[in-house]
Amino acid sequence: MLSVTNKDDVTAIKGSVKRGGISMSVYLYIVDHVLIDTGPARLQRELTHQLEQQDYNKIILTHHHEDHTGNAHSLSKGVPIYCHASGIALCKQQSKLPFYRKVFWGNRKPFSPKLLEDQVHSCHYTFDVIHTPGHAPDHVSLLEKNKGWLFSGDLYVMSRPKSIFAFESIPDIINSIEKVLQYDFETVFCSHSGILPNGRARLEEKLSYLKSVQYDVLRKHQEGKSASVIQKELFPSAHPLNYFSLFENSPKHIVTSIINGSSPQLKKV
Ligand SMILES: [Zn+2]
Repeated sequence: MLSVTNKDDVTAIKGSVKRGGISMSVYLYIVDHVLIDTGPARLQRELTHQLEQQDYNKIILTHHHEDHTGNAHSLSKGVPIYCHASGIALCKQQSKLPFYRKVFWGNRKPFSPKLLEDQVHSCHYTFDVIHTPGHAPDHVSLLEKNKGWLFSGDLYVMSRPKSIFAFESIPDIINSIEKVLQYDFETVFCSHSGILPNGRARLEEKLSYLKSVQYDVLRKHQEGKSASVIQKELFPSAHPLNYFSLFENSPKHIVTSIINGSSPQLKKV
């Protein structure tokens, strides 16, 4: 079942997927005839039906992951679809998803997006495209300066993650959050936690949490502790998603991405 809400020129379409004791929500946004992301193939029937009733003339993808591009193949037939330069080749490939992600979100068919430029103009708004890697190499956030809106894809999701995916990097996520916080915005439109009127504060909270985790990991690393010892000390308990994902999602990747990260600064925060 989808739920649709309209707020201040933005339509939010929320879907939910439940499998193996895990439940995740996913949000698509339509703003001034621009559709942001296409949702997972698992929700294709409901989303296609809902989107047929909506009015949009271009699609922008925040990144290539299957929960954002699952319906891109079918939706892009009538409407141009855009993504960051580094995502174009990824979208054209048949995705090789781990089994649990195919089961959860459904697979996605290859498709051919066009190059997303630095700015997107709709009838009433201008969106600045900010490259925000860390969750995915091609991840972008869309900023509407006059409205103070940030469409943040998966940059936020939650303030205090206790585990991340093997393909994510904490130092890169820190850099990307610092990059967007240089701009003026208040409301964040998150792909998994919905519309956050206090989104700026939530991103600030996430940034300070990640920096304090980074500090703790690097301090313990300098004391000569191994990644697995650091993981046990900082993140002693596991989350159901860790097992469901066969540890593609794990606290271990927080620790290793910080240890392997580029030019880390050991600074108390
Ligand atoms: Zn993602």
